[in-house]
Amino acid sequence: MAPRRVGLGMPKPRRADPLGPEPAAPDRPDTPALVDRFARTATDLRLSLTDVCNLRCTYCMPEAGLTFLRRTQMLTTEEAVRLVRIGVERLGIRKVRLTGGEPLTRPDLEEIISGIAALTPRPEISVTTNAIGLDQRAARLAAAGLDRINVSLDSVVEETFERITRRPMLHRVLAGIDAAREAGLTPVKINAVLLPGLNEPEVADLLAWCLERDLQLRVIEQMPLDADGVWDREGMVTAARTRELIGRRFDLSPAPVARDGAPAELFDAVDRRGEVPRGRVGIIASVTEPFCADCRRTRLTAEGRVRTCLFSHEETDLMGLLRGGADDERIAERWRAAQWGKAAGHGIGAASFAPPERPMSAIGG
Ligand code: SAM
Ligand code: SF4
Repeated sequence: MAPRRVGLGMPKPRRADPLGPEPAAPDRPDTPALVDRFARTATDLRLSLTDVCNLRCTYCMPEAGLTFLRRTQMLTTEEAVRLVRIGVERLGIRKVRLTGGEPLTRPDLEEIISGIAALTPRPEISVTTNAIGLDQRAARLAAAGLDRINVSLDSVVEETFERITRRPMLHRVLAGIDAAREAGLTPVKINAVLLPGLNEPEVADLLAWCLERDLQLRVIEQMPLDADGVWDREGMVTAARTRELIGRRFDLSPAPVARDGAPAELFDAVDRRGEVPRGRVGIIASVTEPFCADCRRTRLTAEGRVRTCLFSHEETDLMGLLRGGADDERIAERWRAAQWGKAAGHGIGAASFAPPERPMSAIGG
């Protein structure tokens, strides 16, 4: 895949006139819910709060050269909470995950969470974070109403961590994980992306490390969302390979739980060495075993645009409506119209597949 230029060619929001007429969607059933043409209903919202980050994970951001949003382009505290409120009250959103970029770089994260926690019905609130600075904020985030946390951690070996994230900050992540456990933000899930020749050989040890600490490891297949455009289907570590690598130390059996639209396939893991407690591991096969047919997600970028899929080439602007004085129902209608147009799947395997114009950090993972 040819390297992509970043910071350029951002997707255009679908409509130029923020208060212009809505396009006709003649086949859409008359329901307030976020339905699409493939009979899926979105109940989970991923809200990106920023495109800024203090790490530079190779599979997500380039070393340098990104242009970032200006503060005035990003949703304010009130705008973020208002969009979630519209999602919850009018569109049936029941789970909200705050992400980025790095959501902990937002000083108002606690305020946003407490605004969301005050909604009726109260949605489940989680955050995906790299945990830098979490040691200082975990207790406050829990007090604000945060229910759970996912921490991205690809390696507990300092050298590997630094090669992947391009920053020597493993100790800060580990301090953040400890604080999250102490604050009761459980179950703490650990997200790991495996990279060939880097952390791939460490995956069984990483699982052992997690099980010793009652952390739930989720191994995610690398998707073609890296800003450097070096993702390669042949070279990526597949879910099948992950199972094989973990299987060298652990006996894996499918966990007896309904998947219920969750991206992770869960396995019970038993250490044949008997050194760590038995537990669960999730494997997210986004590329090789896609779960698009069961997708329940809708996404908002940090500048208030609906993205119906990570791999969308279209975005629908809600910021213009927010700042143009539109009422809640008008905003909800535009969001519904956007969701109706959600594609059947990401099509990574198709010959016509083209990765999105933005890296993961700017979309909101
Ligand atoms: N900065 C936070 C973090 O790292 O958790 C939140 C944003 S990050 C984009 C969200 C998740 O996306 C992380 O778990 C990260 O590992 C994952 N991610 C980023 N780029 C990815 C890629 N190309 N393929 C698969 N997962 C990716
Ligand atoms: Fe930052 Fe998260 Fe992307 Fe890593 S994965 S560069 S921590 S946004």
